[in-house]
Amino acid sequence: MDYLPLFLQIRDQRCLIVGGGDIALRKIRLLSDAGAMIRVVAPAICSDIRVFLSSDHHELLEKAFDEQDLDDVCLVIAATDNPQVNRQVAAAAGQRRLFVNVVDDADVGTAVMPAIVDRSPVVVAFSTGGKAPVLARLLRQKLETILPQGYGKLAALAGGFREQVKARFSHINDRRYFWEKVLAGPAAEKAMSGDLDGAQAIFEQTLLASEAQKVGEVYLVGGGPGDPDLLTFKALRLMQQADVVLHDRLVSEEVLALCRRDADFIYVGKKRDRHTRPQEEINALLVELAKEGKRVLRLKGGDPFIFGRGGEEIETLADEGIPFQVVPGITAASGCASYSGIPLTHRDHAQSVRFITGHLKDGSYALNWGEMLDPGQTLVFYMGLLGLPRICQELVDHGRDINTPIALIQQGTTKNQKVFTGTLGTINDIIAEEKVRAPTLIIVGSVVTLHERLSWYKSEEAGSISYRDARV
Ligand code: SAH
Repeated sequence: MDYLPLFLQIRDQRCLIVGGGDIALRKIRLLSDAGAMIRVVAPAICSDIRVFLSSDHHELLEKAFDEQDLDDVCLVIAATDNPQVNRQVAAAAGQRRLFVNVVDDADVGTAVMPAIVDRSPVVVAFSTGGKAPVLARLLRQKLETILPQGYGKLAALAGGFREQVKARFSHINDRRYFWEKVLAGPAAEKAMSGDLDGAQAIFEQTLLASEAQKVGEVYLVGGGPGDPDLLTFKALRLMQQADVVLHDRLVSEEVLALCRRDADFIYVGKKRDRHTRPQEEINALLVELAKEGKRVLRLKGGDPFIFGRGGEEIETLADEGIPFQVVPGITAASGCASYSGIPLTHRDHAQSVRFITGHLKDGSYALNWGEMLDPGQTLVFYMGLLGLPRICQELVDHGRDINTPIALIQQGTTKNQKVFTGTLGTINDIIAEEKVRAPTLIIVGSVVTLHERLSWYKSEEAGSISYRDARV
């Protein structure tokens, strides 16, 4: 973030505007909306400004800017059409450590004016850091249409109930549940449509009828393979409600950033060789947090029910009578296949697909290799990077053609995605010559040949490396 967004209380505080034309007038209107005492300095001040600021509250100084104009002010806006003067104002304000906004030249000042959607007391302010004002304007148009005018009324009504809600619920979580319920329900609808009496009545009834929560709930949510755009709406909604988030290594930073900002985050990740927390401990922690009345988000990479131990975690919850919901996520097989242009099934290539764990247990596999020989079956190995040489060997030894195409998709769907292709006979050279990093998914079968034609996703890493023709 280049700038810290902040809302300033400037009622009855003196603010300086240098400039006396139209640009200055636009800023003056904003400052006036926020109740500021405005000092305008310019050799010529236009009549619109004179009319607008006619009360004694404000000062109009028809003269060139000098450093003393900064006395007693809390905020400075340089709004002249002369870049040199604007720079001079910015430098003088900087000397006094005052924040200064320079109109149309964000880099010179220390504050930028955001684009604003005003539903007071709800105000949405956003900025592109002065880089793309037109984009900010487009975004503003969008927000204007999706934020109902009634939001302001709703917020004002809610404000009137704050003390009563505090008195009714001593615990912050209970207050939050109450607000979430009431602000998404019929009271909100009524307030936004202008029926404030009706809304008030429903608020009061809901408050009387609401009980403090005794047991929380666990949301077992699939966070998908990496790209945050692949989350489901439901996942996002629950991610924004949770009080505590338990996450592990596979959940991408971008996905994690979409969780509620003030939630508690607990990392319970497992490394391949170093289990930071045994599974039983995670199960117990989920129970403990839910019993404290919290809404606990157990966020998993991909889909929680595909090699995610999701089943084990909710078994414990079921035994303890704790409510839970499960939200599916896009599993690595789907994500990686789509983002590498390798359809898992295809009428000309594969009539079935099999998901297999490639995790070595005590250095060996207890897999039924004999069932994986059909050339019309695509094989997808999760957790198979370490065991790759062994997987290829077993498949060939049991009779699958050594020329069967294979793809490794590293960090699929992320900006670091990289695809390596080869055959069962050649692919191990990749491990020798390239640094293939986890997480990597392995796809085996003739569908892999489609990658060259169908690959569409451009990651920041160099796209695809083929070992097909290297050494067969
Ligand atoms: N529940 C997860 C899988 C967990 S097992 C899911 O449904 O996707 C972990 C394995 O998943 C990794 O070893 C890797 O093989 C695969 N994987 C997960 N995310 C991946 C990604 N973004 N790119 C490639 N492979 C991934």
